[in-house]
Amino acid sequence: MSTSAHLPADTALAGGTVTDRLVEANQRYASGFTDPGMDARPVLKVAVVACMDARLDLHAALGLELGDCHTIRNAGGVVTDDVIRSLTISQRALGTRSVILIHHTGCGLESLTEDFRHELEDEVGQRPPWAVEAFRDVDQDVRQSMQRVRTSPFLLHSDDVRGFVFDVTSGLLREIDPTG
Ligand SMILES: [Zn+2]
Repeated sequence: MSTSAHLPADTALAGGTVTDRLVEANQRYASGFTDPGMDARPVLKVAVVACMDARLDLHAALGLELGDCHTIRNAGGVVTDDVIRSLTISQRALGTRSVILIHHTGCGLESLTEDFRHELEDEVGQRPPWAVEAFRDVDQDVRQSMQRVRTSPFLLHSDDVRGFVFDVTSGLLREIDPTG
């Protein structure tokens, strides 16, 4: 895409910080932008919860267009209380009905443990209130995430919840059977 902020690595930071570079890319993007006149309600009535991994281009991987979906991302694509908050708003205020959960191969959370919290506590003097949500078995973690969505009392729609593992080497999704 012509709007990409990618530059050769050796010139990437030559003219300022990475944020400066992104702001410049935005100016190019906006110069060719026309108001699509869209409603905030996602066209496909779907919310995608995914890991923040840099190798996962959700729109390209799922054939999504601007305006199609909500994307909710965090480390691991974990269904935390804050993800439930976003899904609740997505469904109750903005009309989505389906939920797709996407974890992926080679996730950074597979190399962490809950010791991460204790190491943080040792370093900074307080333990973070959140769980690391590290995991060993990505399939099982997808199942747990599906279960958290399905059992949330706040959501209007929990009948169409499906979970997948994205293979970062092939680009393919593999669906996870919720019953294991
Ligand atoms: Zn990940």
